[in-house]
Amino acid sequence: MVENPIGLTIAEAAEHLGVDSVVMDTITKLTRQGDFLDHITKSRIGICRKGAYGSFVFNSREILLSQYPRQSTDAASSTFLHEYAHLLDFWTRRVTDHSKHWKEWARAVGTRPTATDPTIDPVWEKARGLKPIGVCLTCGQFFEALRRFDMSGRTHKRCGGRVTNVFPNQKVADRFPHYTDYTLVPE
Ligand SMILES: [Zn+2]
Ligand SMILES: [Zn+2]
Repeated sequence: MVENPIGLTIAEAAEHLGVDSVVMDTITKLTRQGDFLDHITKSRIGICRKGAYGSFVFNSREILLSQYPRQSTDAASSTFLHEYAHLLDFWTRRVTDHSKHWKEWARAVGTRPTATDPTIDPVWEKARGLKPIGVCLTCGQFFEALRRFDMSGRTHKRCGGRVTNVFPNQKVADRFPHYTDYTLVPE
């Protein structure tokens, strides 16, 4: 299981996922390269709570990734590159979507040029058969209980990983506003 590089800068995350050369190659194709370099060495990966593996924020040009562990570094880097392609697209057009412009960037960075990744990580697949209230962000173990209690800040004894609350969707999460630390099961 691999934890997403949340809190690292975009440049650090690329290095962490072994795709820094891909990222550096794309910069040569851009205008305002200094500003771009400045952005990717300062902007940190945030937490995506949309029930998706990742998302891109237009205003701040931030990349958000799921707090949930991924099955492999490949799975994590393909989502990171999907969102990075949105950043490149946005940088050149001031807008981004899944049109041919984004697809071109997606191909350039070597990620699947589709809006959603059709392969669901097995760990997420497993969540569908359960009603988890929490998950270990290191080993992916789910915790089930008859009644929900706040798992923010807990540690998984077996592996030492950080545990977070799991909600099936945002609507349910909104009923527990004091649960500061949580993730959603992807749709
Ligand atoms: Zn996208
Ligand atoms: Zn664990």
